[in-house]
Amino acid sequence: MLYLSQSKGDADMQDEYSNDINRISPDEGAANSSKNTAGNTFRPQAERPRFKPETGAVSGPSRTGSRSRRRTPIEKILPVLCLALLFLAGMGAGVGIGYRIWGYEAPYTVDLKAIKSPDWIEQKLLRKNIFSRPDVSMRSVKNIVVHYVGNPNTSADSNQRYFDSLADQDPEKGGASSSSHFIVGLEGEIIQCIPLSEISYANAPRNFDTVTIEVCHPDETGKFTDASYESLVKLTAWLCEELDLDEKDVIRHYDVNGKGCPKYFVDNEDAWKQFRKDVKAALKEQ
Ligand SMILES: [Zn+2]
Repeated sequence: MLYLSQSKGDADMQDEYSNDINRISPDEGAANSSKNTAGNTFRPQAERPRFKPETGAVSGPSRTGSRSRRRTPIEKILPVLCLALLFLAGMGAGVGIGYRIWGYEAPYTVDLKAIKSPDWIEQKLLRKNIFSRPDVSMRSVKNIVVHYVGNPNTSADSNQRYFDSLADQDPEKGGASSSSHFIVGLEGEIIQCIPLSEISYANAPRNFDTVTIEVCHPDETGKFTDASYESLVKLTAWLCEELDLDEKDVIRHYDVNGKGCPKYFVDNEDAWKQFRKDVKAALKEQ
């Protein structure tokens, strides 16, 4: 573009420059070029006297002279362009543009294997199997996903047993595939089915970087009991703390793939917002 527009207006530019140069006496020129500390000496002193006698003439400049003048606008623009590019690169690095361009990811520093579950979480790990505990390592956790079990009045224990029973299916024939890291029961009890260092099967297509919490509920509305709700807030806040996340990283199954789960929090947006606020408050208390 630059080169094009320049050669187009070449004749005009030559006129402009000749006139310009002819107006400047050698002394003025010297003062000018000494001011020009960035090395942009546009009219070398040695050449200037050659132009002097051609005052008023348009056909004067030698080939070398005209070539050096033709370069001049680029010389003017190049440093500015370089600075602009450097500035943009700096800005880009600052706002993490590298993440988008090269897919670079900051290293996830939480050691998922090292997280020890507190004693208010009962460990009842599923048997390893391709339907509910595929034994696939989770390398980082970006979100905690809340679900409702969708089966009113069932206990945390019966849901755990259901996930574990999926192991008895015949892998050759295929079958149901589902699981959860945690299940919160109607009485507020919490069961852990899968270690945090392994993926669960509940949040496709985000199984690889999400932790799942299933919550039991007494009826079809999907509303949690007070005891379940309290435990859910406590568990979620603990996970946020351990996984280096905050309440904004807590999402609904609905936010992953549009499923109407957890029903009550999808039907009642305000209740969902309140839940996140409660998690935030619990995080501050920790
Ligand atoms: Zn769900």
